[in-house]
Amino acid sequence: MKISEILKSSDKPFASIEIVPPLKGIRKDELLKNVGRFMDYAPKYINVTSHRDDFEFVAKADGTYEKHLVRNRISEISVCSVIREAFDVEVVPHLICGGSSKDEIESKLYNMRFLGFENVLALRGDCLSGEKRFTPQPDGYAYASELVEGIRKFEAGCGEDIFSIGVGAYPEKHFEAPNLEMDIANLKKKVDAGADYVITQMFFDNEVFYEYERRCREAGINVPIIPGLKPLSTPAQINRLPEAFSIDIPNDLASEVSTHANDRKAVFQIGTEWCRMQCRDLIAHGVPAVHFYTMGNPDNVTSILKDCF
Ligand code: FAD
Repeated sequence: MKISEILKSSDKPFASIEIVPPLKGIRKDELLKNVGRFMDYAPKYINVTSHRDDFEFVAKADGTYEKHLVRNRISEISVCSVIREAFDVEVVPHLICGGSSKDEIESKLYNMRFLGFENVLALRGDCLSGEKRFTPQPDGYAYASELVEGIRKFEAGCGEDIFSIGVGAYPEKHFEAPNLEMDIANLKKKVDAGADYVITQMFFDNEVFYEYERRCREAGINVPIIPGLKPLSTPAQINRLPEAFSIDIPNDLASEVSTHANDRKAVFQIGTEWCRMQCRDLIAHGVPAVHFYTMGNPDNVTSILKDCF
């Protein structure tokens, strides 16, 4: 079922989760055991992130270097297939511009269509490690809005309405955008190109989300905006999350975590409670759904799903 249809037909807020594909070497059963822990709480769909192949340069005896492909993770399409088959749950593979030409993206879309996938999250993708600015592939898409346009063209070529398309958004501004207003204008380009809904980057202050949503509506963005949450789980994350995702950790949360920095269990609990409070408040404000970024230990997200949905 398309996420756009799920959003239209749901009469109460629901949860979805996002997972990162496992590292190479893992067996299907191990993945399913981990994902199975969330299934008791019936997330409506599972997003699977997409990652660019990374390369390493290995020095040879003659002083030259040889380029080696490092495939760190199992592909999002394989992961989506086994999850859907095992749990009969809707899956959303992420599709990124980075690292692929338009033809290669088209080939991925054919694979998704072949497998009967009805959903995709269209993203530009992160920079490669060591890269400061995103560099599109020669003959690749430079922005997610171009990718959305490309997916809609692909559908037109097939003569079918295949995908419900989601896109990413940044309540605290995407780190490259000159200002929030321009970033919202760029979000509107994605929606105008054919995106059906938006999922936000994680945030820890709901007031930031409410103001962002208000400004998006004011800018004429009328599709559902789904807040993305991640429970903070380790002391180091009060620095790592802002660094990696260009977001703020509110002072109340950062101070509490700092006070218990030597007690990992306490920090895990503090982060879980904060996220539970955010989730309850978002539901009370009438959001259509809440999307959870799950990384590592699923105990925090499953306990929030159990209490809030
Ligand atoms: P875009 O919408 O293309 O925006 C990128 C920047 O360009 C923004 O600053 C925007 O304001 C600007 N911009 C957009 N259009 C234009 C234009 N026409 N002219 C000038 N400027 C423009 N990364 C991964 O690698 N894999 C994943 O699976 C993944 N999943 C994610 C899931 C969610 C829900 C979110 C929110 C992010 C995810 N990311 C993922 C991270 C994302 O790829 C990065 O944040 C990336 O830097 C931006 O992607 P985007 O799709 O938002 O880009």
